[in-house]
Amino acid sequence: MTPAAHHADGPKRLELSFEFFPPKKPEQFAAFKDTAERLKAFAPDFVSVTYGAGGTSKDRSFAAVEMLTQEVGLPTAAHLTCVSAACSETNEAIATFQTFGVRHFVALRGDPPEGPGTPYAPHPEGYTDTADLIRGLRRIDDFEISVSAYPERHPESPDWDTEIDILKRKVEAGATRALTQFFYDNDDFERYVEKVAAAGITIPIVPGILPVHRFAAVHSFAGRCGARIPPHLLPLSELSGEAHFEAAVDLAARQIDDLAQRGVSGFHIYTMNQHRLVSAVLKAARIFEGERTCCAA
Ligand SMILES: Cc1cc2nc3c(=O)[nH]c(=O)nc-3n(C[C@H](O)[C@H](O)[C@H](O)COP(=O)(O)OP(=O)(O)OC[C@H]3O[C@@H](n4cnc5c(N)ncnc54)[C@H](O)[C@@H]3O)c2cc1C
Repeated sequence: MTPAAHHADGPKRLELSFEFFPPKKPEQFAAFKDTAERLKAFAPDFVSVTYGAGGTSKDRSFAAVEMLTQEVGLPTAAHLTCVSAACSETNEAIATFQTFGVRHFVALRGDPPEGPGTPYAPHPEGYTDTADLIRGLRRIDDFEISVSAYPERHPESPDWDTEIDILKRKVEAGATRALTQFFYDNDDFERYVEKVAAAGITIPIVPGILPVHRFAAVHSFAGRCGARIPPHLLPLSELSGEAHFEAAVDLAARQIDDLAQRGVSGFHIYTMNQHRLVSAVLKAARIFEGERTCCAA
C-alpha cells in the first residue's frame, strides 16, 4: 500500500466518520437524532450530511446539519453539489451552514438533473465542476474540504487517466481528503490507491464502507454508480431477517479488518441512517477493539 493510506511511522489514531442523509419527513427527525446520538458513542471524528441533487433536499440538509451540530454536538461536514445552482445560491447555502458552525465541506459536482448517465451541463452562472466549487469555498474561508474518489472509476470517466486527473485537479484546488464511493473488493481499493500515489497525490484516501442493509437495494444502487458486487456478496441475496443481518455484519467487519491489515487508517461509513447495523459492524471489527490506533511501526 502507498503513503496516502498507509502510515508505517508509528501508531496512529484510526479516523472514523459517518455519513447520513437528511430524513425525508419532519416526523422522521426524532429517529434521526436518536440514530446520531447512539453512533456518537463511537466518537466519530466527523459526520457528514448529503445534499440532494440540485439542492432538492437543501432545507432538509440544513435542518439535519443544524440538529447534528447544535443538538447532538457532532462535528459535521456538509455536502454541497454544483448542480442547477448559480454560484450566488451555493454561496448562500455555504453561509447558512456556517451559521450552524460548519467548518468542513464535502465538495461535489453532483449528478445531472436528469439522472446519472445523462450528459452533465453546468448551470450558466454556477460553479462549473468540483475544482471550481473548491476554489469558491477557499475564497470564502479556510475550510476543511473533502471530495469524492472512485476506486472502480466514475461511470463518466472514459479511462483511468481522466479519473486520476480529475482527483488531481480537486487536490490542486484545495481538497485535503478524499472519501471513496463504496466498494466490496479491497484489491480494487488497493490498486486505486497505487494509481493515486503514482500520480503524486498525497491526501488521505479514506475507504467508504457500505454495510449491506438490504441486498436488493445495494445491488441496484451499485448498478447505478458503477460499483461491482463481487461473488462473495451473493449469498446475502438468499438471506433475510437476522441471518441477513449477521452475514452483513460479518462481511463489513471483515472488509474493515482486511483494509486495516493493508495499512488503512481511516474509515467513512455509509450509515443509511441505521445505528443497529453500523454499531454491530464496529463492535465486530477487531481493529476497533480497545484503543483506536493502528499501524504500529
Ligand atoms: C463520498 C461521496 C459523497 C457523495 N455525496 C453526494 C451528495 O451529497 N449529493 C449528491 O447528489 N451526490 C453525492 N455523491 C454522488 C456524486 O454526486 C456523483 O457520483 C456524481 O456523478 C459525481 O460527483 P463528484 O463530485 O463525485 O464528481 P467529480 O469527482 O468531480 O467528477 C466525477 C467524474 O465526472 C467527470 N468529470 C467531472 N468534471 C469534469 C471535467 N471538468 N472535465 C471532464 N470530466 C469531468 C469525470 O469522469 C470525473 O471522474 C457522492 C459521492 C461520493 C463518493
